[in-house]
Amino acid sequence: MKTPEEYVESLRDGRELYIDGRKVEDVTTDPNFEVPIAYAARDYNYDDRRELRTYTTGDGEVGNRLFQIPMNKEQLETRVELLRHVSIISGTISGLFALLNVRDTLGQIKPEYAQNVENLYNHCRDNDLRIAEVITDAKGDRSRHPLQQDDPDLYLHVVERRDDGIVVRGAKLHITGASLVHELIVLPTKSMSEGEEDYSVAFSVPVNTPGVKIINRDYAEPGRSTFDYPISGTRSMPEGFIVFDDVFVPWDRVFLCGEYQYAGTIAHALGLWERVGGLIAMVEQSRLMVGIAQLLADYNGISRASHVIDKITELIFYAEMLRMSLDASIRDFKTTESGMVYPNDMNINVGKYYGASNYHSMVRHLHDLCGGQVITQPVEADY
Ligand SMILES: Cc1cc2nc3c(=O)[nH]c(=O)nc-3n(C[C@H](O)[C@H](O)[C@H](O)COP(=O)(O)OP(=O)(O)OC[C@H]3O[C@@H](n4cnc5c(N)ncnc54)[C@H](O)[C@@H]3O)c2cc1C
Repeated sequence: MKTPEEYVESLRDGRELYIDGRKVEDVTTDPNFEVPIAYAARDYNYDDRRELRTYTTGDGEVGNRLFQIPMNKEQLETRVELLRHVSIISGTISGLFALLNVRDTLGQIKPEYAQNVENLYNHCRDNDLRIAEVITDAKGDRSRHPLQQDDPDLYLHVVERRDDGIVVRGAKLHITGASLVHELIVLPTKSMSEGEEDYSVAFSVPVNTPGVKIINRDYAEPGRSTFDYPISGTRSMPEGFIVFDDVFVPWDRVFLCGEYQYAGTIAHALGLWERVGGLIAMVEQSRLMVGIAQLLADYNGISRASHVIDKITELIFYAEMLRMSLDASIRDFKTTESGMVYPNDMNINVGKYYGASNYHSMVRHLHDLCGGQVITQPVEADY
């Protein structure tokens, strides 16, 4: 396993990054990346919750539990508990777990594809790497298929097939933590049709592969007071617009190339693991919202007012519905052919949809209960 210092050093590998219209010379010393790197590096401190964060691998080594493939309900429960305590940049391992979910299917198309997934898994586990899930294409005109777009590069596609690999061109948007991981797992964004073989491609490349360029968008200015900005001052993570400028991918890193019938299967698998992470975060956040609402109501002497009781009750229902969806998804787990256990996708989808569609109403209750103070509170320096 890497130490936090080794993680930071590992980012100094020649990766081509941009932010605010300029090239990033050294991401490890660039002020715009200071908070995100510190946030990501905390996950490499295995002294924190060591029992939860580590496990004994099949080879008898101590490993990062992020890489433990759950083979029973207890291990799935432990994985969910682990995901509550790691940063988003560990959570984006969902790309790898999506591939593990469909490994058996990929092996039926071509045994090499399943072997390549296995090799990537071993490589990431043995080197304690972080991974971005790279799926969302630029898409262009949403009413048209990839082949019907005016610009053929609006969906990432294969432009050349060689004896030793493929060359890909296109862009993937909004990719969380892309500049601060080691591997990019690139998957099709949706189902594809006959004729769209070149767009039906899945592969992985290291971030510093020639032709990979990442244009970052961050949300937190460096040097903000963590008292005034407790979330963005400690936990911001940039999204990356990744350009694949004729990137070469060797065959042993390809998981799908041309088999359009399976593009949707892979996209669906990523959706599941991505939403598991999303639902876990929503469960945490909803509990926090209940606590904040009750605290403010007590503080302002309004906790006995009927409209306040109604709002806090709704917040509690919201938090409990999310928790129950997550619990049910573990209780009603499913199993792949190779024996990997994963959360029930129906429960996860229902919970995630419910959480997202009611989120704004819940925040509205919080705004109402807080009054104006939430916007105009004096800053730390004023105390
Ligand atoms: C903070 C953040 C982090 C993200 N992280 C990642 C990441 O790590 N990896 C990754 O791959 N992606 C990531 N995403 C991308 C995210 O998954 C997409 O934004 C999401 O899937 C929606 O796609 P879109 O932005 O293209 O919007 P659209 O799909 O264009 O949706 C916009 C609207 O258009 C409608 N629409 C779209 N197509 C059609 C159609 N054919 N017919 C009718 N209506 C249509 C939709 O219903 C919606 O109302 C992230 C996004 C954000 C905001």
